[in-house]
Amino acid sequence: MSEREAAPAPVDICGLSLSELTALCTEAGLAPYRSRQLFEWVQRRAGAGWAEAGNISGADKARLAEGLSWGLPVPLEERVSADGTRKFLFQLADGETIETVLLDYRKDRSRSHATLCLSVQVGCALGCPFCATGRAGWRRNLSPGEITGQLLAVTARMRRENASFHVGNLVFMGMGEPFYNMNAFLQAVRILNDARGQNIGARRMTVSTAGVVPGILRLAAEAPQIGLAVSLHAGTDELRDVLVPLNRRYPLARLMEACREYVLRTGRRITFEMALTEESATETQARAVAALLRGLPAHVNLIPVNIVAGSAARRPTGARVAAFRRLLTERGLAVTIREERGADIEAACGQLRQSGAKRKGAEAICHLPSSDKTSQE
Ligand code: SAH
Ligand code: SF4
Repeated sequence: MSEREAAPAPVDICGLSLSELTALCTEAGLAPYRSRQLFEWVQRRAGAGWAEAGNISGADKARLAEGLSWGLPVPLEERVSADGTRKFLFQLADGETIETVLLDYRKDRSRSHATLCLSVQVGCALGCPFCATGRAGWRRNLSPGEITGQLLAVTARMRRENASFHVGNLVFMGMGEPFYNMNAFLQAVRILNDARGQNIGARRMTVSTAGVVPGILRLAAEAPQIGLAVSLHAGTDELRDVLVPLNRRYPLARLMEACREYVLRTGRRITFEMALTEESATETQARAVAALLRGLPAHVNLIPVNIVAGSAARRPTGARVAAFRRLLTERGLAVTIREERGADIEAACGQLRQSGAKRKGAEAICHLPSSDKTSQE
């Protein structure tokens, strides 16, 4: 081990809130209004680098740059689907790669239609067998700056085509489990929500969890305006233990108790995601799901499972998906079937593949929130 202490790693400016940036700027002897300007440059103009930060003197930049790094995830690959879905493969500072998906973007549509699906981890530790991200395992959590950086990098890229490009909606449904990277996720939310930055309303954000009970309760306490989607996938513990191994830690009774608590505290409806497989698209499961959700303000999103390499999960027939939906709607539940997007570029749910991770055999998943582009019953 070296006798000299290692220099502290530079802090990523993209992951700093305005108050944190102000504290650092004050320490460096800069006036508070300078930190506001800098925050705007970083977060609003999606600038990537000190050279682009106007109005700050070279000497001040040099002083700040000593302790602050400023770099966005580097796009390695971009693919565009005929339906407008765009898939980005980004490389992070340590060489790891993640994917980010831009959905629902049309040049001719209002800005509020651009939805970005963000990753929160490199890989995932939870190992759902039908999900390639989980099959490849967890490598590390993303920092707040790597989460906001995905949006900033996509925005910078898209503004080269359309100067007024702006992301309107965010879904935290890419790689990883947001509630196992809760602090970074919440920090990124606060930054992206800041009116002096991207100003994306919390109600335009949705987070999906595999069912991390403490995370659901913390979301209710700390970010009640954010939409919650719970990956249910099965109505019985027996099947859910297999499809979502986290169920062994937080079984359905505990999960549903947390969901009821969430609704009590926030007054919000929960979206329940059901990736339907041949195994799960049965009448028994539909009845069990309906029983679980009875009395809860809920919306059910059915996703015929996308086949991933190495997984035994098979898609049910359209007739079985329709029968499943009918059974739920007959019991008073609001149900949508998620439209497949970006299939021609392998960007539909469960089809995304990082070229960096191709070597490791990983994939990433991204979904639309229930409010977007679904066939509503
Ligand atoms: N880890 C979080 C969020 C990311 S996954 C979660 O599990 O909720 C986003 C969604 O994609 C989850 O509902 C997940 O179950 C679903 N998904 C994973 N693999 C899929 C596949 N092959 N086909 C369809 N949906 C899939
Ligand atoms: Fe992780 Fe979600 Fe994939 Fe399960 S579905 S392995 S929780 S990313």
